[in-house]
Amino acid sequence: MDRVKFLLDEEEIPKKWYNIQADLPTPLDPPVKPNGEPVTPEDLSPIFPMGLIKQEVSRERWIRIPEEVLDVYRLWRPTPLYRATRLEKALKTPAKIYYKWEGVSPPGSHKPNTAVAQAYYNMKEGVERLTTETGAGQWGSALAFGTAFFGLKCTVYMVRVSYDQKPYRRIMMQCWGAECIPSPSKRTKFGRSILEKDPDSPGSLGIAISEAIEDAVTHDNTKYSLGSVLNHVLLHQTIVGLECKKQFELADDYPDVMFGCVGGGSNFAGASFPFVADKLRGDKPDLKVVACEPKACPTLTKGPYMYDHGDAAKMTPLLMMYTLGHGFVPPPIHAGGLRYHGDAPLLSKLVKEGVIDAVAYHQTEVFKAAVTFARAEGFVVAPETAHCVKAAIDEALRCKETGEEKTIFFANSGHGHFDLAAYDAYFAGKLVDYEYPAELAKKALEKVPRVKPKVV
Ligand SMILES: *Cc1c(COP(=O)(O)O)cnc(C)c1O
Repeated sequence: MDRVKFLLDEEEIPKKWYNIQADLPTPLDPPVKPNGEPVTPEDLSPIFPMGLIKQEVSRERWIRIPEEVLDVYRLWRPTPLYRATRLEKALKTPAKIYYKWEGVSPPGSHKPNTAVAQAYYNMKEGVERLTTETGAGQWGSALAFGTAFFGLKCTVYMVRVSYDQKPYRRIMMQCWGAECIPSPSKRTKFGRSILEKDPDSPGSLGIAISEAIEDAVTHDNTKYSLGSVLNHVLLHQTIVGLECKKQFELADDYPDVMFGCVGGGSNFAGASFPFVADKLRGDKPDLKVVACEPKACPTLTKGPYMYDHGDAAKMTPLLMMYTLGHGFVPPPIHAGGLRYHGDAPLLSKLVKEGVIDAVAYHQTEVFKAAVTFARAEGFVVAPETAHCVKAAIDEALRCKETGEEKTIFFANSGHGHFDLAAYDAYFAGKLVDYEYPAELAKKALEKVPRVKPKVV
């Protein structure tokens, strides 16, 4: 009988993160200010601790994971690698399907891998409080969890509509001791200015980011934390792929094709970069690595590769990435974590260079795949994750036609226990497929400043 689970012992948790910046064919284009000047570490120091800024620009291949961080990781890591034997049977495919399950962390996704690390580095530098924003609450709950271990306070600005309509993650944040504030709020100048114009503003991620950054820069011993996109976040997530490589050795197998869902790119980069390293080195030239995104927010498949702000309020530096424009407001699909206008610069660069591919799906087909998966394998996955479940199932069905015995992998980034209303809408036939609003995106792109980086 085929094995279903590939487990590592606690001592086998990797002790170093993998930094793909060491192996890029050409270096990353640096983040710049609107005048084109490169951003310096000093520019970032009011917002982030030096430990994280150093990781952001490091080109060292391996970065040691602090003991204190490993100690918290041990609560739920190593996570299992599964062989989806029941799904294979249900699909009658000759392909082998594997998935790495990050839903076993207490907040239920991959996000604590970086939340815990970020809380640690801030604590080390005497920071007493972290601020952040959250949409549906996945990142806010992960940071609330991470800060709880290092005695840090945590203030989460949560988009007003989600705060009112999706209370459960807010309650989790409170369980872990964080303060969760509906945004726009009266706490910040920016929030007050929005409320003066519109007391009933539903809020947006852009507003919440601005509030969280303003709070951090106007208070002592307070810094800001971001849950995806940045190099140091992707670095922390490589713990997933490094474990996964050891587990594929146990399985005596290696993926032919890897899928992952992409919002800002952190979970997919984390799972795939240690394998992408083999491809960049020439050891696995045929490895296919495919990012999966929503057709309603098709950053990698439809966006241009250019400098843009990371946030709607233009408070962040300009990052070189695929983008739909910082002012682009994607349609309200249920995979809230995939509604980001841009993508991680590291992932964007590898897509640009043809190392990683991208595909996009509609939400109805994605939920259909998630339900097929739940009925075969038991796990109810997050709507975000469902995008790569769809891709994996499609690939397995192609193998059925050609008879290929491919090894298919997908990054199972989290559970959908707080997204059951979305499944409910799917079962009730109420899910809408949004076409890519090309006109809106065109308008948003017109507002992106054309910056020419100054060479220094
Ligand atoms: C936040 C989230 C994502 C998207 O974020 P990435 O940075 O692209 O990984 C995907 N899946 C789950 C379960 C999430 O919570």
